[in-house]
Amino acid sequence: MRTDVTIIGAGPAGLFAAFYVGMRNLSVRIIDPLPEPGGQLSALYPEKYIYDIAGFPKVLAKDIVANLVEQLEPFKPVYSLGERAEKLEEDNGDFVIQTSAGHSYRTGSIVIAAGVGAFEPRRIGCPGEADFVGHGVYYAVKSPEEFRGKRVLIVGGGDSAVDWTLGLKDRAHVTTIHRRDAFRAHGATVNQMRAAAEAGEIRLLTPYEVKSIEGDGQVRRATIFHNQTKEETVLELDAVIILAGYISKLGPLASWGLELEGNKIKVNSKMETSRPGIFGCGDIVTYPGKLPLIALGFGEASIAANHAAAYANPALKINPGHSSEKADHVPALSEKAVAE
Ligand SMILES: Cc1cc2nc3c(=O)[nH]c(=O)nc-3n(C[C@H](O)[C@H](O)[C@H](O)COP(=O)(O)OP(=O)(O)OC[C@H]3O[C@@H](n4cnc5c(N)ncnc54)[C@H](O)[C@@H]3O)c2cc1C
Repeated sequence: MRTDVTIIGAGPAGLFAAFYVGMRNLSVRIIDPLPEPGGQLSALYPEKYIYDIAGFPKVLAKDIVANLVEQLEPFKPVYSLGERAEKLEEDNGDFVIQTSAGHSYRTGSIVIAAGVGAFEPRRIGCPGEADFVGHGVYYAVKSPEEFRGKRVLIVGGGDSAVDWTLGLKDRAHVTTIHRRDAFRAHGATVNQMRAAAEAGEIRLLTPYEVKSIEGDGQVRRATIFHNQTKEETVLELDAVIILAGYISKLGPLASWGLELEGNKIKVNSKMETSRPGIFGCGDIVTYPGKLPLIALGFGEASIAANHAAAYANPALKINPGHSSEKADHVPALSEKAVAE
């Protein structure tokens, strides 16, 4: 399906840019390799408070993401999550974006809101890991019910590992290992996890790492080791959930022929990149005076989205007017997007 505008990156800047495209009565697609929207806020610090969002004295990162998604929802954006934008071609006045999932998406203009680059799960690199992806090795929990009654090894020491240890303990037989004794997660949830271990509800082992993952087309066991004594333990398992954080890289966007400054994309005051029809906002862009802050990303997103909308549909004026005077337009826009 063709959309008028495509946003690359579902972080705060990308989500707000998509909202503004919807406000202009145009269709919008959002592409991101992560399984859920939110960019750094979802991947790196969902439980942290943010204090410098205008109008919010104190707000959890995950709540800002939930609010952005809700604000955007009336415009029925097309989410293409779990795939990275890779190649770009031009065809008959349109852009065609190819993704890592093998899809091609046609669009009239593009807003790049790719932050610090595409997030990908950090691999632990042990023998067997790559062989069992999709056959018992996971990098995210999409459906907790999938693990009901199963023997699960969770690997990691951040918020995701601790949250899913607690989230799965009543459904599955959970062993959680971390390579250090200290966890990098929210103190209250770490305490809950330690209490669950003391109560025998889960098994918690530190400082432990995975030596290998084994099976017969499906994960059957893993060998883990104490990284100081080197003592090994074999665990009989059905699943290994690796929640060891993310790595990010600019990757394929670097070859789209855009003018760069270091690993940032240069934009002008209209948030235009050096390539007509491609705009940018958020952490990925640079210009004199740029600061990598969410507050600034929101402002840049509204500039980028309004110019991208006008590029995709030249009949539109750049200035969107005031949303407060258009509130009654939102249901109509939603109906239109659904009908399309
Ligand atoms: C621990 C921590 C605390 C922070 N606290 C604050 C704070 O208090 N206040 C503040 O203002 N800022 C804070 N920041 C910075 C803030 O999170 C960033 O400025 C903000 O996330 C940038 O938003 P963004 O939408 O530009 O990019 P991101 O949030 O980085 O999102 C970009 C998205 O683009 C996706 N992407 C990248 N490449 C591609 C591709 N090729 N195809 C498809 N998708 C792609 C990525 O997967 C990612 O999901 C903090 C950052 C960290 C790490």
